[in-house]
Amino acid sequence: MAKKKTTEDTCCSFCGQPQGYSRILFSGLDCTICNECVEHAYGMMLQHGLASPGHQSKAKNKKEVVGSLDKLPSPSEIKSFLDQYVIGQDDAKRVLSVAVYNHYKRLQYNDTHDVKSDIEIEKSNIIIVGETGTGKTLLARTIAKMLKVPFCIADATTLTEAGYVGEDVENVLVRLLQAANYDVAAAEKGIVFIDEIDKIARKSDNPSITRDVSGEGVQQAMLKLLEGAVVNVPPEGGRKHPEQKMIPVNTKNILFISGGAFDGIDKDISKRMNTNVIGFSGSKSREGTDRTNFLQYILPADLKKFGLIPELVGRFPMLTHLEPLDHSALRRILTEPKNALVKQYVELFKMDGVDLAFEDDALDSIVDKAVEYKLGARGLRSLMETVMTDLMFEVPDRKKKTAIVISKDMVLSKLGSVK
Ligand code: ADP
Repeated sequence: MAKKKTTEDTCCSFCGQPQGYSRILFSGLDCTICNECVEHAYGMMLQHGLASPGHQSKAKNKKEVVGSLDKLPSPSEIKSFLDQYVIGQDDAKRVLSVAVYNHYKRLQYNDTHDVKSDIEIEKSNIIIVGETGTGKTLLARTIAKMLKVPFCIADATTLTEAGYVGEDVENVLVRLLQAANYDVAAAEKGIVFIDEIDKIARKSDNPSITRDVSGEGVQQAMLKLLEGAVVNVPPEGGRKHPEQKMIPVNTKNILFISGGAFDGIDKDISKRMNTNVIGFSGSKSREGTDRTNFLQYILPADLKKFGLIPELVGRFPMLTHLEPLDHSALRRILTEPKNALVKQYVELFKMDGVDLAFEDDALDSIVDKAVEYKLGARGLRSLMETVMTDLMFEVPDRKKKTAIVISKDMVLSKLGSVK
């Protein structure tokens, strides 16, 4: 009996649907009503003149979520903001700034023009190609922070074609809805970052021999997200099942940014350019070709050759690349960004009343290790932790809070054993 009561308590007495992420229940004396039925009832009251539209607080909230659209920053302002958090990567920053600016200009245009214009400005999804740990996610995340729109990261490797083990592509939108607190209108203007897009490249040149459910199959499934269709999303993710109520999400105004390392694509690019990656001397180089990073010459055709289907490539009209992070870039990453690692540790020690400083060659040694072990920017944090952990353990107990300066010798003694 107790079980029956629980079911009644957790289902709407009007539509019978259970409580969930998208559905909250209001309890009365002996019945409950969900937000959707409340909205439905409100609509009926509006129709009969029993309520005024002024009470629609939801519309106000929507405006707030995408509020920054009112004063849309220019591409150069977007880039300056990115400069505060992301070191280098100027080409990618410029491409992203223009794409995001145009995207939101387009949204603003739609918001302010009631009459449909003959000219439809299409959106420009973006693919960023660059080695892992060079700032692809950081760029997308920083843009979302600036524009205050719902943002989510999806991992393409977890996706499979519908009906197979893994996630359906619709689950990408579930994360966006969650980031938007299930405000569908806000989610429909959000940004989705799809990581590791290169991992769903076609595995073989002849797809008809075996089913390629986590490669070409996902690419096909992804097309419907990208082409601006209304996609039915299961509110709580997971597999769709017939009795589940879906949330329709229009993806027309969602900006998709994809990132991938595309390992080995530089060799294909160099071949295409009729040069040779290795053996600089004697090779017949094209004049002016910078052979330290072939990614800068990437073209959509290279992505197709790598295994992305032409339809998918076509839905990402903007293509940009990231530079590999060299010693000097890593060194700058330690100290320059707004929330640089060094600034974070200084702040942490300040809370214990201790002034912390790093000698320049101490920081150089940390970067040397990151370069030596090919750890990239991601490795900087763990190296810093290794250097700082003992100090962070003992400093809070110190009676006399003297200043601490981290020297090169201290770094080397801590990192000497790091492999
Ligand atoms: P990926 O290219 O694999 O998406 P991320 O953007 O996740 O790499 O970068 C991993 C971490 O490395 C970030 O959290 C950031 O701290 C640091 N990082 C990477 N590239 C940069 C950069 N260009 N400027 C500042 N920090 C960076």
